[in-house]
Amino acid sequence: MKTQNKKPLLIANWKMNPPSAKEALALAKKVDQGIKNISDVQVVLCPPFVYIPIFHAEKFNFLLGAQNCFWQKQGAFTGEISPAMLKNLGCSHVIIGHSERKNYLSETYEVIRQKVKASLDVGLIPVVCIGEKAQGSPNAKRELELQMQILLADISRTQSSKIVLVYEPEWAISSVKGVQAATPQDCEAAISFMKEVLARKWGEASAKGIHILYGGSVRKENIREFIEKGGADGALVGAASLNAQEFVSLVKESILG
Ligand code: PEP
Repeated sequence: MKTQNKKPLLIANWKMNPPSAKEALALAKKVDQGIKNISDVQVVLCPPFVYIPIFHAEKFNFLLGAQNCFWQKQGAFTGEISPAMLKNLGCSHVIIGHSERKNYLSETYEVIRQKVKASLDVGLIPVVCIGEKAQGSPNAKRELELQMQILLADISRTQSSKIVLVYEPEWAISSVKGVQAATPQDCEAAISFMKEVLARKWGEASAKGIHILYGGSVRKENIREFIEKGGADGALVGAASLNAQEFVSLVKESILG
């Protein structure tokens, strides 16, 4: 069983929710209130882009993140948001390569690789999502390794301490009705393997310093076992982060007593 050697990191991915700025601010305020006396966990909230300036104007106890960015610095790229824009609006983190972007927007590994590099270049922490498509796939390890080789290709050993990885098996994301979270055993196997790949790339010591989170149907009831038994240093939380009470309980549960 794991001892907690890194401060758990919980990243709320609100996806395309809620529909109004008023609701977004109300939800953020409730989360903020709930976590204000908690210092043993780092919480990052990633709202839709349009709410970022509003949150930036407030003094919150969580860090601010975005759900995506573009890979170019500036220019004629209609509808895109650069890493520097996010940094200038107070973001510390940016989720890169979420499976929903791969599946709905055909985002390729090559595009994700460039986004990882572009975010590091301006001092944003890329939260890089990696995971196999199908449950029980005999090629799962090969898929994970291939994704890591491509997505992390431009990152030096020194920069490796500035990234966060998420083991996000696509089959476990709650947006598909009836989906189940991975088991802590699935999570442990994948995260151990990811650590091996990282150690081969950057050495054992650097690999140990990297936060690897779990993402996929995380709830207040299962977060503890992903940390205790699954080897996760925290979680990327989708649906459960849209309910302040649930999310605050989940944050509290992530602190191993
Ligand atoms: C996610 O968005 O990465 C995610 C894990 O979502 P959910 O928690 O809803 O499964």
